[in-house]
Amino acid sequence: MDEKNSLLAAVLALFLPERCRACHGPSLAPLCPDCLATVTYCGAGDKGNPPCRSLCLYQQPVSGLIHRLKYGADRAVLPALAEIVSRCGPDLNDDCDLIIPVPLHISRLRQRGLNQSLLLARLFFPKRLPAVRCDLLIRHRPTRPQTGLSGGARRRNLSGAFSLTAASGIIVGKRLLLVDDVRTTGSTLAECGRVLIAHGAARVSYLTMASADW
Ligand SMILES: [Zn+2]
Repeated sequence: MDEKNSLLAAVLALFLPERCRACHGPSLAPLCPDCLATVTYCGAGDKGNPPCRSLCLYQQPVSGLIHRLKYGADRAVLPALAEIVSRCGPDLNDDCDLIIPVPLHISRLRQRGLNQSLLLARLFFPKRLPAVRCDLLIRHRPTRPQTGLSGGARRRNLSGAFSLTAASGIIVGKRLLLVDDVRTTGSTLAECGRVLIAHGAARVSYLTMASADW
């Protein structure tokens, strides 16, 4: 930044109440126009296996924001993510009875202080908060991150990791939407979906904030 620009930034900072949550520059909104312009949206279709709708690609600034939420419990990034979600607006699929965030194991939840998937589910569907349920599906066994594992190792890592609570009888015959932060291999979503269908869900669809690939 040259001298003129840094002076301009300093003057702007006096008048603009917000800072961009990604680049920390002065901004009128939680995400400045430059950062917003670099988001790659995935379009409305479902992709991958299981077929999953992802709002955008897992690259900057989205990857940085999710990383800070997940590993730094930095809730200040939520308005920036909300800004991105609002651009996907009307075609965000809420054609479901219940919205279920992918659960963390209790030890991971205590360590992180939040479940990013729960916060994202609330951010996606602010008008449907009672439908967002984190008391039905649990991760009762800690699992390793799926990244870097082979297909077989992934299945073994997740096998038997998820189960349903006593309250989960309400999923029978219901259309469920499973929400996660990032779709990488899709195997976590698929395993959660398998457990939910095995316990009587009529249908499970999938939604993530970001996708590691198209
Ligand atoms: Zn920015």
